[in-house]
Amino acid sequence: MVFEYNYLLEVKNLKKYFDVGYGQMLKAIDNVNFFIREGETLGLVGESGCGKSTTGRVLVRLYEPTAGEVLFEGENVHQLKGRAAREFCKKAQMIFQDPYASLDPRMTVRDIIGEGIDIHNLYKGKERTHRIYELLNIVGLNKEHADRYPHEFSGGQRQRIGIARALAIEPKFIVCDEPISALDVSIQAQIVNLLIKLQQELKLTYLFIAHDLRMVKHISDRVAVMYLGNIVELAESIELYEHPLHPYTKALISAIPIADPKLERSRQRLLLEGDVPSPINPPQGCLFKKRCGFAKPICEEVKPELKNSGGEHFVACHLY
Ligand code: SF4
Repeated sequence: MVFEYNYLLEVKNLKKYFDVGYGQMLKAIDNVNFFIREGETLGLVGESGCGKSTTGRVLVRLYEPTAGEVLFEGENVHQLKGRAAREFCKKAQMIFQDPYASLDPRMTVRDIIGEGIDIHNLYKGKERTHRIYELLNIVGLNKEHADRYPHEFSGGQRQRIGIARALAIEPKFIVCDEPISALDVSIQAQIVNLLIKLQQELKLTYLFIAHDLRMVKHISDRVAVMYLGNIVELAESIELYEHPLHPYTKALISAIPIADPKLERSRQRLLLEGDVPSPINPPQGCLFKKRCGFAKPICEEVKPELKNSGGEHFVACHLY
């Protein structure tokens, strides 16, 4: 995959392996390439353990990559030092999956949101207080919430606090790591709508990680599908949902429930059978071959590369 333009973020040949002992490596990310334009949302989907969250963590420097590079505004983020590294941390933030686990239960909301403001020396005194109230207001809470503790809030409210904390240092780019997975279905849409509103108002760029393809469609401009540490398909959101190419993407999309009970009963589901192979010892050839109903002899031997199948639609499959 060759990139022709400059993007806010570019990921090139990224690998992240974890040493699991006995001389074995867990290949959490294995040669991943993508870019994100300023102001857009790239959805990153796939089953648990496919490497989505690890990718997000490498992007914001929570993990060092094993190989490859992450360019943010043209700079390799893992080579930044001192002031430049602090500047990057200010520009790139993360919202976590479990809002309860990611908020310190001994800190008030005021301190949680104020922490980043203090670290980056953004506001002091009255201005700091005003900014905290402003952030609470932006995420749909109010100043009466500032002196409460995380356990006094519902799951949706805690995620709003997590979003306010991320916004406190005025980032450009946010990795949203399964921000709605731990929430009730009724609250999920509220949080997604809040993120969309904030993106428009604050000109944010998102990597939105999820295993639920329903919500990813709603928020994403483009979607990348990940399987066993590799991107197997990447396309504009509408294109991916209306014309999926990879058998794995087709199976994931066919599992999305349809609101109309008549259509839901009549449609054909592509069931995903078998287990995901171990990332410690991935098979030769196509990583999806054991679960694929279209496998050919070449799939046994040769790993398909992510290739452009037209427009901005990329797929890694020998059928294309
Ligand atoms: Fe299926 Fe072969 Fe395509 Fe892999 S490369 S998804 S095994 S058809």
